[in-house]
Amino acid sequence: MQGLMMNSPLTITSMMEFADKIHSDTEIVSVTSDNPRHRHTFSDAFKRVRKLANALQKLGAEKEDCIATLAWNDYRHFEIYYAVSCSGMVCHTINPRLFPEQVEYIINHADDQFILLDVAFLPLLEQLDGKIPSVKGIIVMTDAANMPETTLTNVYCYESLLESESEEFSWPDIDEMDASALCYTSGTTGNPKGVLYTHRSTVLHTFAACLSDVMGLASDDVVMPIVPMFHVNAWGLPYVSAVVGNKLVFPGAKMADGEVLTSLINDEGVTYSAGVPTVWLALLKYLETSGKTIDSLQAVIVGGAACPLSILEEFEDKHNVYTHVAWGMTEMSPLGTFNPKLDREALGESEYARMRVKAGRCIYGVDLKIVDDNNVELPWDGEAFGALKVKGPWVCSSYFKLEESDAHDADGWFDTGDVATIDSLGFMQITDRSKDVIKSGGEWISSIDLENTAVDHPSVLEAAVIGMPHEKWTERPLLLVIKKEGAELSKEEMLAFFKGKVASWWIPSDCLFVDELAHTATGKLSKKDLREQFKDYTFPS
Ligand code: ADP
Repeated sequence: MQGLMMNSPLTITSMMEFADKIHSDTEIVSVTSDNPRHRHTFSDAFKRVRKLANALQKLGAEKEDCIATLAWNDYRHFEIYYAVSCSGMVCHTINPRLFPEQVEYIINHADDQFILLDVAFLPLLEQLDGKIPSVKGIIVMTDAANMPETTLTNVYCYESLLESESEEFSWPDIDEMDASALCYTSGTTGNPKGVLYTHRSTVLHTFAACLSDVMGLASDDVVMPIVPMFHVNAWGLPYVSAVVGNKLVFPGAKMADGEVLTSLINDEGVTYSAGVPTVWLALLKYLETSGKTIDSLQAVIVGGAACPLSILEEFEDKHNVYTHVAWGMTEMSPLGTFNPKLDREALGESEYARMRVKAGRCIYGVDLKIVDDNNVELPWDGEAFGALKVKGPWVCSSYFKLEESDAHDADGWFDTGDVATIDSLGFMQITDRSKDVIKSGGEWISSIDLENTAVDHPSVLEAAVIGMPHEKWTERPLLLVIKKEGAELSKEEMLAFFKGKVASWWIPSDCLFVDELAHTATGKLSKKDLREQFKDYTFPS
């Protein structure tokens, strides 16, 4: 017997209409290329969303079209998210940090019809002129006064397009399984792969993100998403904020600028933010050298890469900011696990430190498991580590326009490519990417644990550990370190620092000091490039 409850579709339109009605006076503050502090409200934004929907329709954009963005976090990007998805089109956010050939591949693969972009990315698109035939028009996200010269044709000005449009738009009915947004993984091996979100997956992900042991935001919070809107929808914050009604502060292109971030936090009363570890390093460094404080900030999320304990401690002990570690990926919208606020007193210092660096606890809605090489499930004892697989309504079921997915098994589990442990309370800890694990004498060594330990040394700015061939042990860890400016640190001192902190046979067999370390377009250490760079290295005998 079926139940007798309404089957209302879970759509982004419903979140937008709710925000427009209930949180109409919520403020959005943005840094853009044409205004260092633009302000408007949800009500203003959604009026402009309707104008944009009209403008796109007039230009010939149709239901199911992919409409791309190449843009920083700001109010126009927020408006595009809603205008495109709620019109039944697909908002395809492109990461401008990818190589031009990858951007070209992605635009052609998605068959993008229009591209909305920040002035700063016009040169990138000029390089692709003639190579992206599906694109019918380019909309520059600025006003007439700031429109740049360009060699491209079919170029429109965002504000001029909106000017003459009506504030009324009749939103189409949308099936909750319709595609809403598209984001490509950075494709460290092979071409980038598209993850096509649905309205339903986005709404359910938003509900989960709103849980109090997850983001736990309230309407009196002020949220600054530093994680880019061009990669995995800024971890869902533009949707969460619409439902919660918290004020939004968008830093535009200034995402790694400690000074701008500090003044935004202080001027706008930011209480909550989200970003990758490198962003927090930049902010903490600025605070240390300037002596400034960030009194309004209560909590931040760190994710996208493993975060050293030193960042968590510095935030809490010097600035009274709680840091939540979260884990997820493009294929997961992205939230998979979230480390909730832990009780420092009850846990005691060492247990507190051990627990809080973990990638976090399972979120209702995502099933996790770890398996061995034979796909046999491993125990949740915090010790056994294996390939991490996931299932759930906001996990991709296959990739866009790719028939075959070697990441999904016959039972529908998605292999994340991460290697992890899970403890009896459901706290998961990533030990490595599966392609980066180091196997020494048949036993696995976690490169992430070693990197985090190295970064806890006061003279170390950044560290990477890669597995290199070894005569006796097949593979041994090689530590690569960037020292902090002016710091004195010898190889012996660095390696001795690991004693007592990790198993003795985990201690890297050698350490090299370097000036820089290769990163991917999403800011993660690129182990593939590092292994290539050091391919001729041999361990001292
Ligand atoms: P990409 O496009 O590079 O795949 P994603 O943002 O999808 O970008 O990256 C997801 C990967 O990032 C995860 O599979 C994991 O390896 C890594 N990652 C994310 N969060 C964490 C975390 N808290 N700790 C360790 N690694 C993480």
